Amino acid sequence: MCGIVGYVGPKKVVPLILDGLKRLEYRGYDSAGIAVVQSDGKLEIRRAPGKLRNLEESIRAKPLDGLYGIGHTRWATHGRPTEENAHPHRDCSGEIVVVHNGIIENYLDLKQQLTAEGHKFVTETDTEVIAHLIEKFSKAGSNLEQSVMKAVKVMTGAYALVAISTRDPQKIAAARLGPPIVVGLAENESFIASDIPAILAHTRSVIFMADGDIAILTPSGVQLTDFDGKPISRPPQHITWDPIMAEKGGYKHFMQKEIFEQPRAVRDTLIGRISQDTGKVFLDDMDITADEFRAFEAVKLIACGTSWHAALAGKFMIERLAHIPVEVDYGSEFRYRDPIVTKRDLAIAISQSGETADTLAATREAAQKGAKILGICNVVGSMLTREANGTVLTHAGPEIGVASTKAFTCQLTSLLLVALYLGQVRGKLAPADTIKLMQELTRLPQKIEEVLQRDPAIEALARQLFRHTDFLYLGRGIHYPIALEGALKLKEISYIHAEGYPQAK
Ligand code: GLU
Repeated sequence: MCGIVGYVGPKKVVPLILDGLKRLEYRGYDSAGIAVVQSDGKLEIRRAPGKLRNLEESIRAKPLDGLYGIGHTRWATHGRPTEENAHPHRDCSGEIVVVHNGIIENYLDLKQQLTAEGHKFVTETDTEVIAHLIEKFSKAGSNLEQSVMKAVKVMTGAYALVAISTRDPQKIAAARLGPPIVVGLAENESFIASDIPAILAHTRSVIFMADGDIAILTPSGVQLTDFDGKPISRPPQHITWDPIMAEKGGYKHFMQKEIFEQPRAVRDTLIGRISQDTGKVFLDDMDITADEFRAFEAVKLIACGTSWHAALAGKFMIERLAHIPVEVDYGSEFRYRDPIVTKRDLAIAISQSGETADTLAATREAAQKGAKILGICNVVGSMLTREANGTVLTHAGPEIGVASTKAFTCQLTSLLLVALYLGQVRGKLAPADTIKLMQELTRLPQKIEEVLQRDPAIEALARQLFRHTDFLYLGRGIHYPIALEGALKLKEISYIHAEGYPQAK
C-alpha cells in the first residue's frame, strides 16, 4: 500500500502533487504516476516505472500543467511494476481516472463482466476495474460520487481510492474501506492523501476518513457521506506537528533523526501526566472511570510488530505495579482464535498510527465482547483513537522511518504511566513508591541523551560487527522483549539474520 495525493484549488497542481508523493517515498514503491485535468477540460497522464525522478523526467520531457489532479506511488500487488500498470488508471473514454491503495478481491469476476459488456482493459491491475465501473455508472446517468458509491457496492476487498472525471469538473471523489486516507481542509482548496506528511506543508486541519466513508472534494470544501450517500459530519482534527518535524533536519535519514528525537519525545509524553509532589498519575480525559479501572479483573494487550514488543514489556509493568493478570496477543492471532473476553476486561490496543488493520479488528472484537478499550497511539484522530473508550497519546511526533524507534520508546513510557495509574487507583502502589518511580521516569530523557552521546563508539562497534551473518540478542525479564525488538530492528534495517532469546543462567 503506497502513496496517494490529490489536490483541487488555486495552487500549481503538478509540483504540489509531486512534492506530496516525495514525502510519502519512505513507504517504498515501484512506480509512480499523475493525472491532471487541464484548462481545456482534458485529462493528461504521465507515468513511469521506478523512482519519482523517472516520473519527473517524463514530465520534463513532455511538460504538464493543469487545474486539479491526483497522483500515486504504487507497490504492485496485481501486475508487474511497469509503466502501463502504474496508476492512475483510465476508463475506456479516457475521461475518468482512478488511483488506489489496496486490493480488489473480486476483480477477475468484475473484469469478466465488464469485458462482456464491451469494456476494454489495457493493464494487468485490479485497480483498472474501478475506472470501468465508474464509467459504467456514469454512462447510466450518475455523477462522479454516485458512480463511486455504486462501484463500491459491487467491489470486495480493501481500498483507499480516489477518482476524477472530466464530466464532473473541479471535483475529486474518494472512498475508504481499509487502507488509511486523510482529507486536508483549507480556504478555497482541498487536499487528499494516504498519510499526513504529504499535505502537512499546506494545512494542519485534517479529517481522517473512516471505513465506509465517501469524500467529495471541491475548492470550496469537503463533503463526507456514507456509501449510501447519507451525509456524515466528522469534526476536523488539528495536527500540531510542525511541517519541519516531518523533514530530515540535517540527519542522514529519518530513522537516525527519530533515534535522536527520543529524549524529547519521552519528555513530551510525560508532560502534565505525573505529579512528583503528590505521586499522582493523570491519564487524558476518557470514557473509563476510576471506578471501572479499579474493577477490571484482567488486562488484554493487543498489538502487532514493534508495538507487540512494547506490549510484552507492558505485561511486566502492569502485573508488577498493579497486580492484575495480563495477557498479550498479536492482533491477527486474537481475531482468529475466538478469545475469551468479558465485561470485566480492559483491552489495551497499541498502534503508532492508530490504523493497524489487525489491531483494529481485534479491538473491535474485544469491544463487541464487552471489554473497555484503551488505545496507546501516536496519531490524534486516527481510527483507534476514535473507536477506543480512551487514549493515552504518545507525543512522539511524526514517525516517518518505517522501522519504529521513538514511537516504541514512547509506547513503553505510556505503558508505565498506565501501570502506575492502575497500581494507584487499585491501591497496590504506595505514593512513596510511585514517587520513586516517577523520579526515575523524569530522569529517563537525560539518560537516553547520555546513551546517544556514545554514538561514535556505537558506530565504531557497528564497523567491527557488520560482516557477521547471525546475531543473538539476549535479555531477561523486561529486557527479553527489548531483545526481541533489537533483533527485529537489525533484521528490518540490514537484512542480517537476528533473533532475540530469553537469557538463561
Ligand atoms: N492493487 C493495486 C495494484 O497492484 C494497488 C497497489 C498499491 O496499493 O499500491 O496496482
